[in-house]
Amino acid sequence: MGLMIDLSALVANWKALAARAPAARPGAVVKADAYGLGAAKVAPALYAAGARDFFVAVASEGRELRPHLPDDARIMVLSGHMEGEDLTGLIPMLNSPAQFFRDRALRPKGAFGIQLDSGMNRLGFEPGEWAAVRAEAVAAGPVLVMSHLACADEPDHAANAAQLAAFRAMTDGLDVPRALAATGGILLGPEFHFDLVRCGVGMYGAEPFLTAASVVTLSIPVIQTRELQPGESVGYGYSWTATRPSKIATLAAGYADGLPRALTGKGVNFWAGETAVPMIGRVSMDLITVDVTDLAVVPAELELLNAKQGVDDLAKLAGTIGYEILTSLGRRYSRVWR
Ligand SMILES: *Cc1c(COP(=O)(O)O)cnc(C)c1O
Repeated sequence: MGLMIDLSALVANWKALAARAPAARPGAVVKADAYGLGAAKVAPALYAAGARDFFVAVASEGRELRPHLPDDARIMVLSGHMEGEDLTGLIPMLNSPAQFFRDRALRPKGAFGIQLDSGMNRLGFEPGEWAAVRAEAVAAGPVLVMSHLACADEPDHAANAAQLAAFRAMTDGLDVPRALAATGGILLGPEFHFDLVRCGVGMYGAEPFLTAASVVTLSIPVIQTRELQPGESVGYGYSWTATRPSKIATLAAGYADGLPRALTGKGVNFWAGETAVPMIGRVSMDLITVDVTDLAVVPAELELLNAKQGVDDLAKLAGTIGYEILTSLGRRYSRVWR
């Protein structure tokens, strides 16, 4: 019941991504509480499988994760050194001259990395800024120089080659480990791999890693069922009306649990074993209704996410991406890690 997270499938996905980039150290991106799946469980499972390089978005995530990992695990903070942050036990990826000078002034012996902007224009030193600081920064001994691809999930996009060339121009000849690829970049091929890759969404079972094993099963309890006569309607706005004698089940999840209201009317199915059970009516805050008329027996819970229907399937119906479905998975679900 609730959210079942298959850690062995997750680790298998990480290993499969690592195998696509055999020359690089396989890192693991566990930001946003491991994409909603629980960094305190996911990161130690990956550590046990050999991962030593973990990435979080902000220092507070790193501080929460630090006690769950042995000292030889590196926790890299993608937002770098923000003013006033405690970075004890963490490695900031410094994004600008201001961050670099702040970090060196406050933590002259602290490990750090450098993030470069190769074209995405979101984080990292601009080429001109890097040229000005590069000698001093390299002398200070960064553990990594990295950048991030904007369009890696579109293999034919011209930005991939352009960003690769920009990254090379900024880093060729440096004696510092380099990283450019996340999941999409790993799949683009060896010239994108450099010394370390950042495995992210593919590990959690989502696109663009199309051969990923299913990691998440979400089962929602049935609260009650009722019989409807033709002409009776269900839920807010009476958006669904029975056209035959019907049996309706009310389930204990809604948009407050990360199931987008935009799924309303999109033909979403729940699953009772192998049988599809159509969602009807509106997704409301805490409740969803399904038409169980054709089920011989109504189970205690119905599945929404499983090997048959993954986060990307749901995302497409809702007009979003698997990343957003994963990171929205609600705090009210009980979570079980297997
Ligand atoms: C989120 C993120 C990743 C992971 O990306 P995926 O597409 O989930 O593999 C890697 N690097 C950076 C800088 C990120 O922000």
